[in-house]
Amino acid sequence: MSSPSDKPLSPAAQAARLPRHERGTYWLLALVVAMVVATSVALWWTLRQAQSLAQPFQKSDLWYVSSVHSELGRVALLARKVKALEAPEEELRERLEVLYSTLDMAGASQRIGARLRQDLAQPALDLEELGRHVKRWSSRMASAPPERAGLSDDIIAHTDALLQSTRKAVVAVHLFSSQDTDRIRQELQDHFMLLSAVLGGLLVGTALLIRKLLQEARAAQALSQQLAQANRQLEMRVASRTREIDEHRALLGFILDSSPSDVVLADVESGFVHFINNQMVERLGLQWPPMKLFLPELLHDPATSRQLMDALEKYGQVDGMEALIGTRNPRWSSLSARLIEVDGKLAHLLWGFDISTHKQLESQLRELATRDSLTGLLNRRAFLERGTALLDHCRRHAKPCTVLMIDIDHFKRINDRYGHQTGDDSLRACATSIAGALREADILGRLGGEEFAALLPHSSTESAQLVAERIRDAISQLQILSTASEPLRITVSIGMAEMAHRDAGIETILAWADQALYRAKATGRNKVLAYERSTPSPDTTETLP
Ligand code: GH3
Ligand code: MG
Ligand code: MG
Repeated sequence: MSSPSDKPLSPAAQAARLPRHERGTYWLLALVVAMVVATSVALWWTLRQAQSLAQPFQKSDLWYVSSVHSELGRVALLARKVKALEAPEEELRERLEVLYSTLDMAGASQRIGARLRQDLAQPALDLEELGRHVKRWSSRMASAPPERAGLSDDIIAHTDALLQSTRKAVVAVHLFSSQDTDRIRQELQDHFMLLSAVLGGLLVGTALLIRKLLQEARAAQALSQQLAQANRQLEMRVASRTREIDEHRALLGFILDSSPSDVVLADVESGFVHFINNQMVERLGLQWPPMKLFLPELLHDPATSRQLMDALEKYGQVDGMEALIGTRNPRWSSLSARLIEVDGKLAHLLWGFDISTHKQLESQLRELATRDSLTGLLNRRAFLERGTALLDHCRRHAKPCTVLMIDIDHFKRINDRYGHQTGDDSLRACATSIAGALREADILGRLGGEEFAALLPHSSTESAQLVAERIRDAISQLQILSTASEPLRITVSIGMAEMAHRDAGIETILAWADQALYRAKATGRNKVLAYERSTPSPDTTETLP
């Protein structure tokens, strides 16, 4: 389907659509073309008039009629002479032939007669009548002498009237020819004037067109110069702006590379890393320039990486996320990230600060918080926490688990007799001995004062008994240096309790072991006893051996 605007426009409508200065040129061009056409027409017309003026029959008619008139006069004169016997008849015959041939020269009489009949009817009729007479005279002249008798009289009788009519014809043709020539001249003058006017118009139109074209050429040149100037200025501005941007980019790159934080810019769709600063490259232990990298692969742990990408997809930002980055020597980093738009494309900007030292300190502090400062063993709280986890593990795997409560016998007396420092040394020596008797999987803690507890996973009371005896024996073998002359000897009492049923917690089992311990104290110390459900309340008031 074509819309109304698709219809071809007329030249005038097309011209109306053009800008104003172009419309002027268009109209001038049309004027010049019209003037050229008009000039051609006027020239053609003028040429035609000139041709008709130059045609020979304009004068030949007059010459023809004059010749006929003169020859007729000569024939009349000769006829009179022949009649008066002053001239031979033969001469008259010749004159008649001349007249005859003048009247009918190569058919000219018919053509001229036709022209004369059209414009001058009477002279034409007179000439026709003359022709008839001449024809008749000629035929009589050519006949036998009796027939020729009286020919001169006949000629004389008609020639006066014929001479008069041919004279009138000469005058009429002369008049007509002059008028015709005047008319053609007048027309020719008119046509020349028209041609001059049209030529003048053509000249003016051409001059105007040339002027207009020159103006437009000058305007186009000026416009082109202005455009070139504007283009130069634009190019300079673009170059200057590009230089500024390059400088800013270089500065930004320098800042980012000098930044103590890690910076990465990655494509949202593919995760492809477009930019990574030196700091991050060093942190990851990569060669410069780095190979093809992807944001999710920068994190050590795939689960954390997924968590980061999910958070970015969901919220478009992440703040202070602690994660291990790098693969070979992963380091802790506090990561923040934003979803941003760079050059119309979505990207993830990620930056991070190395927190490995903080993490180490934190870990040390956490470790310290779990340790007893004197012996380095787990403190009560840490022992209970890890013990609970270990108990759960044994319970899940249906394995036995036994707790030992170890208490130094009469420790107060040691303090009293050898001093607090020796007491401390004794505590440390005992801790080392107990730890040496345990397996890697066992856990040991100092629950308070001179009281230790050990949790032996995968151990029944029977197998724990062996370990407990080994501990007791090892401690009894200890020789603690003191200010006294004889070496200090230590003994311990140990109570044991096995995780009896599924519900028993660490506290309960410790309480059971404690009960067994009290029984061991009450029954003489320096021994190992297992928890019995009917264990009586202890009486621990005894003295050192
Ligand atoms: P029993 O055989 O019945 O266990 O008697 P005991 O003297 O060992 O028990 P008691 O509870 O009467 O005394 C414990 C002592 O341990 C009291 C306290 O001064 C001492 N003690 C607790 N903690 C420390 C410590 O860190 N260093 C030293 N040197 N002594 C401690
Ligand atoms: Mg004690
Ligand atoms: Mg005690």
